[in-house]
Amino acid sequence: MTIQRGRHFLQTPGPTNIPDRILNAMHRPAIDFASPEFHDLAIACFEDIKAVFQTKSDVFIYTASGHGAWEAALVNILSSGDRVLMPETGRFSLVWRNMTETLGIEVIETPNDWRSAIDPADVTRVLSEDKDHKIKAVLVVHTETATGVTSNIPSIRKAIDDAGHPALLVVDAIASLMTVELPMDKCGVDVVIAASQKGLMLPPGLSFTAVSAKALEVSEKNVMPREYWSWKSRLNSEPYRRFCGTAPEHLIFGLREALDMIKEEGMDAVFARHARIAEAVRKAVGVWVSEGPMEFNALVPEQRANSITCIRMPADTYANDIRTVCRDTFNVSLGGGLATLMGKTFRIGHMGDLNEPMIIGALGGIEATLQVLNVPHGKGGVMAAVDYLADTTTR
Ligand SMILES: *Cc1c(COP(=O)(O)O)cnc(C)c1O
Repeated sequence: MTIQRGRHFLQTPGPTNIPDRILNAMHRPAIDFASPEFHDLAIACFEDIKAVFQTKSDVFIYTASGHGAWEAALVNILSSGDRVLMPETGRFSLVWRNMTETLGIEVIETPNDWRSAIDPADVTRVLSEDKDHKIKAVLVVHTETATGVTSNIPSIRKAIDDAGHPALLVVDAIASLMTVELPMDKCGVDVVIAASQKGLMLPPGLSFTAVSAKALEVSEKNVMPREYWSWKSRLNSEPYRRFCGTAPEHLIFGLREALDMIKEEGMDAVFARHARIAEAVRKAVGVWVSEGPMEFNALVPEQRANSITCIRMPADTYANDIRTVCRDTFNVSLGGGLATLMGKTFRIGHMGDLNEPMIIGALGGIEATLQVLNVPHGKGGVMAAVDYLADTTTR
């Protein structure tokens, strides 16, 4: 083993960099979960996290991965035998669909090429054909982390309204929250699903469902058996019940710090920083793909995500070699290809606690890797990113 010095660059699309401030906030002893100190801290987090979802509605916090929040959303608003629409986006819509079917819920899926956003016309068509309103919910992945594509939520809301359909709109924002605007109340989203280890800069271990009044009402009548995930038993009670057991205190200490950091920076500034860093990545990748076999996976430039960029390689070997050399030689960890994109793509995560020199460094490690592996590519990607960052800076 070679000894590595300096910082390792974690450019995976989750988990993401945890700021020292958050790590330090977590570095303390456990406390009495029944104490007024923890009670006040937890209640304030439940209140203050609403701003992150841009909602006045309740946010439920689970000690669970994003998969847990997926299941929580499903079992609270749906029962076995119900029917839903889940437009395909990629590997994450696929896994979520499988979970939904496992719960006995019937899924109608509109197909997708794993390179494009959800077509709102598909949503309108399926819902218009559903005359007797058998479809109870439309479940969409906002940013598909496997493909680097972000779908347009307001256009999907409009598609549901155009069909005059009462289905609930449920959005997996796990890879988009805090990286791109998603004002839940303004967009008319009924449930937003998120997790701690992506745009929120926290360790893995927490996930969230933000729930509209309409969805909460549906959940009250829903007969699906549930206990741990149940919104009802978590509502308006002391922290022990809100977490359905011992609270993940240290993650809550971290969450408190993350919410403070987001408030300090300002939501708009956080979105603008993500847009800027993402554009710098796209400038570099644009140069790399200008010669040779590499391509952006996302076909439509406007659909390219602000949180992750997925790059296609035609030869099976390259994508995995790039990840290995980049990680082990140049200290930059990247995401691999998922499901049918395995071996064909690699992914650069750019969400959370990230700034200009960090992304320039990461892009430098990737460009050096392309050179080491003799992957044909346009040269000067890093310089294009630097130029973009410099040209868009006023002083
Ligand atoms: C990461 C991710 C998930 C899964 O989250 P886990 O915490 O790994 O369960 C689900 N959906 C999307 C869009 C993601 O990016």
